[in-house]
Amino acid sequence: MRAKEFQQRRSILGTDLEERKLDGLLVFSRANIQYLCGFTGDNGILFINSERAVLFTDPRFEIQAADQTGDHVTVNIVRGPLVAGLCHWLKKRVVLKLGFEKAKISFENYEALHSGLPRKTTLLPVAGMVEMRRMVKSFEEVRLIRHSVTICSEAFSETARNLRPGIRENELAAELEYRMRKLGAQKPAFDTIVASGPRSALPHAEPTHKPLTPNKLILVDMGASKDGYSSDMTRMIFFGTPGARVRSLYAAVLEAQLAALAAVREGNTAGDVDSAARRVLESHGLGRAFVHSTGHGLGLEIHEPPRLGQKESTRLQAGMAITIEPGVYLQGFGGIRIEDTVVVKHRGCEVLTPTPKELLTL
Ligand code: ZN
Ligand code: ZN
Repeated sequence: MRAKEFQQRRSILGTDLEERKLDGLLVFSRANIQYLCGFTGDNGILFINSERAVLFTDPRFEIQAADQTGDHVTVNIVRGPLVAGLCHWLKKRVVLKLGFEKAKISFENYEALHSGLPRKTTLLPVAGMVEMRRMVKSFEEVRLIRHSVTICSEAFSETARNLRPGIRENELAAELEYRMRKLGAQKPAFDTIVASGPRSALPHAEPTHKPLTPNKLILVDMGASKDGYSSDMTRMIFFGTPGARVRSLYAAVLEAQLAALAAVREGNTAGDVDSAARRVLESHGLGRAFVHSTGHGLGLEIHEPPRLGQKESTRLQAGMAITIEPGVYLQGFGGIRIEDTVVVKHRGCEVLTPTPKELLTL
C-alpha cells in the first residue's frame, strides 16, 4: 500500500472527526490501526486527528513500526503500559474532546485512561467510525482481495484433485491451510471448517478426527489472509452419487445464492440482497433452515461491515467487498452452504471466486 493512500485515509477520517467536533480519536482496533497507518503489530494505540497521527507501541515493535508507518506518523515507544505513555503525551497537548473506540478497548485500559487523562480532556465513545470508511475498498485493496481469493480457490482445487474417502476432517483442514500458505498466504483468514454428515448442520463446526466417508455431505469453509486481506469461500463435496434429497436441497441453495448475487448492485440495500436469498429458500419450505444472514463485508478482517442481514438498511456502494453465502441446516441430516467473495459494481457485481459452484462429487 502506498504512503499516499494512508494519508488520504487519515485526511478523510480527520474530516469525519471535525464533523463530530472531536479533537482526536484513540484507535484500539488492530485492523483500524493497520488501515490508517500500516502498522500490523499486536500492541498499539493510534491517536489521530486532522493534523497528526501518533502511534504508541512497545520496544518489541520499534523497528517494525518505523518500517511500516513512513514519514507522516510519529512513533512513540512506550516502556510499560501503553495507556500510561499515551496519557503522559496527552498532558502536553490541548485535546478537549477525545473519541475512543468503545467496542475495542478493554475495561482495564478504559479505567487506566479515565484516571490518567488530563482533567481538561473528556472521553467520548465512538463506534464504527473507521469501519464505515473501510467498507468501500480502493482499487489497490480490491487487487489484494482478488489475490487472496485466487490463493484460496487454487488451494481448494489442488487439494480436491487428490482427495479420497478416509481422510479425516482435521487432516483435510490442515492440507487446505498448508496449500494456502504454500501459495503465498501468511495464514488462513480464519480456522478452516471441514464438517461432514450431520455435523455439517453446524454453521461454524470445528473439524474433528472423523474420517470422511461416502454418501455424506461435506462442507468446507475456508479463506486466505494475504498481505492483510481476506477471502472467504464455502463449497460442498460428496463422495459417491448424491440422492434426491441432497440434490434438491443443493439446487435450492444454489438458486438462493444466484438470486442474492443478482440483487447485488450499487443502490440496493444489504437487506434487499438478504431478502432475495431468503425468498427463494422460503419458497422451497426452507426459510427456517436458513439460520444466518446472507453475507458480510470482508477486507482487513474476515467479518466487517456491511452485514447482509434481514432489514439491514445499509446501501451497497461500488467497491464494497462482501460475501454471498446462503445456507440450509437440518438437524440430524446436514447442512449446505455456497459462499463466494464478490465486489459490488455500479451495475451488478463481480464474483471474484473462480471455483465452480456445483456440488463437487468425487
Ligand atoms: Zn466462509
Ligand atoms: Zn463468510
